[in-house]
Amino acid sequence: MSDTLLLRDIDEPGLRTLAVYEQRGGYSALRRALAASPQEVLSELEASGLRGRGGAGFQMGKKASFLPHGSMEKYLVCNADESEPGTFKDRELMQKSPHMLIEGMVIAAYAAEVHSSFIYIRGEYVLQADVLEVALAEAREAGYLGEDILGSGHSLSVVLHRGAGAYICGEETGLLDSLEGKRGNPRLKPPFPANQGLYQGPTLINNVETLATVPAIMQMGGAEFAKLGVETSTGTKVVSVSGHVQRPGNYEIELGIPSREIIYGLAGGPPQGHAIKCWFPGGSSAPVLTAEDLDVPYDFESMAKAGSMLGSGAIIVVDDSTPILTVAMKLARFYEHESCGKCTPCREGTNWTVKMLERIESGEATPMDLDIMASVCEHIIGNCLCVLGDAMAMPIGSMIEKFRSEFEAEIEAARARNEQVLAAGRPSVPNVLAPPPGAG
Ligand code: SF4
Repeated sequence: MSDTLLLRDIDEPGLRTLAVYEQRGGYSALRRALAASPQEVLSELEASGLRGRGGAGFQMGKKASFLPHGSMEKYLVCNADESEPGTFKDRELMQKSPHMLIEGMVIAAYAAEVHSSFIYIRGEYVLQADVLEVALAEAREAGYLGEDILGSGHSLSVVLHRGAGAYICGEETGLLDSLEGKRGNPRLKPPFPANQGLYQGPTLINNVETLATVPAIMQMGGAEFAKLGVETSTGTKVVSVSGHVQRPGNYEIELGIPSREIIYGLAGGPPQGHAIKCWFPGGSSAPVLTAEDLDVPYDFESMAKAGSMLGSGAIIVVDDSTPILTVAMKLARFYEHESCGKCTPCREGTNWTVKMLERIESGEATPMDLDIMASVCEHIIGNCLCVLGDAMAMPIGSMIEKFRSEFEAEIEAARARNEQVLAAGRPSVPNVLAPPPGAG
């Protein structure tokens, strides 16, 4: 494994305090950035090739460069909603090293010439929000935030805003609506947030890990950072590994290493006596891969070529002790519940998928239901206002494709169970409509 950048000091006692963070070299990247011009800082970010760590994987420096220049009101928004199942890296970063995020935000805001920023943190992250509040106060007190930061003339305000726990508010435009005090519904794009985002102003939105990587880039230089990883997926990445592994947790890896090294080498593989049935490489929205794909390099392109995606960088491992129907059901119910209902393919499609999976479970389905379910998923993909519909349809579609025989066996088994119950005879049910004895 390569040098780690984000998790190197993560277990240092007291790292969440300004004093310890500064002892470990904290805020020196900000001093370096403020000594350069915003354009030079932006060039470093672009040279790093850093791709967004929240899911979409768009280049961060390029995104920042899309913001218009000039004195209009512009915003930086840190997406700390981290609601993709299986993803818990931002939680650890905010909880243990909040100043790394704050430093990254100040540098990014300087590069994009932004003076107002927000951290939108999911409602369930109460501890992390409290830690951030304290860290923000420390940073203001020390002159790293507020007016005329370190005498540079640059100013930045940061508002910490707690969400209410809706998955859809992790979608960037849903987040913006929520931040404006509205119901968190995704917006039609274009216009993209870089042109028209928060309060209709140009807005740069980045995920926690993306922004927390910025100080390391300023320290080592964009070109050096780009030497880590592989050509189109540069740098290191914090991967959350969960599910059926012996050592679940967050691991920082250099992008491009074989996935097997993460699942077996770092996380210890499935429990003794079990084998991997399938794994989600990038959160629960990613199409599943199987044990045959363990040597696929863990980077954006390789995952796409293998038919899945790196997504939020959360690997969820499912071993052979779990029926695939259970996995599909859990996932479909989650997305059905979280759908905002704004567009038909997602609202109806997630609901139909749950109902069809329930038919399998109750013994009412035939193998034709699998074809119908696959067709529903196909019609959801690419036809929704935001990616939530796809987030259910892609993994469910991949499960039907890769585990069809297991689904078919479950259909047969459930039908056989029903037939046995029928053969044993139904318990007699009293006829409540029959007239009472002695009635005329
Ligand atoms: Fe809402 Fe789903 Fe449509 Fe997204 S895809 S806008 S969550 S209904």
